Amino acid sequence: MKKRILTGMLCVLLLLAGISCRTEQPQEDARPSVVVTIFPQYDFVRQIAGDLVNLTMLVQPGSEVHGFDPTFSEVSTILHADLFVYVGGESDGWVEDVLAKSERTINAIALLPLVDALEEETVEGMQAEEDDGEAPEADEHVWTSPKNAVRIVEALCDALVKLLPESERTLRDNAARYIEQLNDLDARLHAIAEGGKRNTVVFAERFPFRYLCDELHLNYYAALRGCSSNEEVSLSTVAFLIDRVRELDLDSVFYIEFSDRSIANSIAAATGCKTLLLHSCHNVSREDFDAGVTYLDLMNRNAESLKEALG
Ligand SMILES: [Zn+2]
Repeated sequence: MKKRILTGMLCVLLLLAGISCRTEQPQEDARPSVVVTIFPQYDFVRQIAGDLVNLTMLVQPGSEVHGFDPTFSEVSTILHADLFVYVGGESDGWVEDVLAKSERTINAIALLPLVDALEEETVEGMQAEEDDGEAPEADEHVWTSPKNAVRIVEALCDALVKLLPESERTLRDNAARYIEQLNDLDARLHAIAEGGKRNTVVFAERFPFRYLCDELHLNYYAALRGCSSNEEVSLSTVAFLIDRVRELDLDSVFYIEFSDRSIANSIAAATGCKTLLLHSCHNVSREDFDAGVTYLDLMNRNAESLKEALG
């Protein structure tokens, strides 16, 4: 994280020193430019504003969000944005420095302050992180609860109306329609959680679903915390999860997007349970991105998986 902050700082210093960094944005585009870090806010802005804005997602589809480090050109894109949307969590700690060092005040929105933030937690059986002496971080995966998504969409809509006052009616209508769909998703997830035979889920790897499980009152066990950079899962952690699947008589174990599924497959082989995907929406594959997949598509697939797991 420190390395990322330093790189961000270096980029800004070089930009301020006048070293030219070519921006890839076509200058003739008269629409306001909205720059976002990752997929959830990309899709939220797209749902509200559609083609009314020139929208850029910094983290490329299919790439790992947690190690993202902006290039000179990407920092330049942020510095020229009419609106910049980021999470404000551990993964984009470099942003604060970019904003603080910019000569002009950047019109920026962080997602974390828009919701009731939850701290990353370590539950029983979860592999311990190397203790870096820092206080627990806020869990950044705020969008995994549709109720949080509604708050975020409301704030983004207000910000977009300021950029495009002449399109206020369209923007507010789009946001209202979208919020209705988010509320439907929330109701659907609650019905699945409340109607299920089980109320515990087991994750074979990272766990970026604190907000979703908190909202749905689901218990969970997981190998690693939400933003863990630890790739190695120990045999004792896997054994603990196998015991939980057996003890709770679960018939599914979850893996997340971009996973090689190796731990989920080991747990499935040992217990006879099946493996299911729960997509954190953190980022999407290039294929999904090009096909226009949305947050609602992914979350509705998640609802199906949860229904299968909870019975
Ligand atoms: Zn994360």
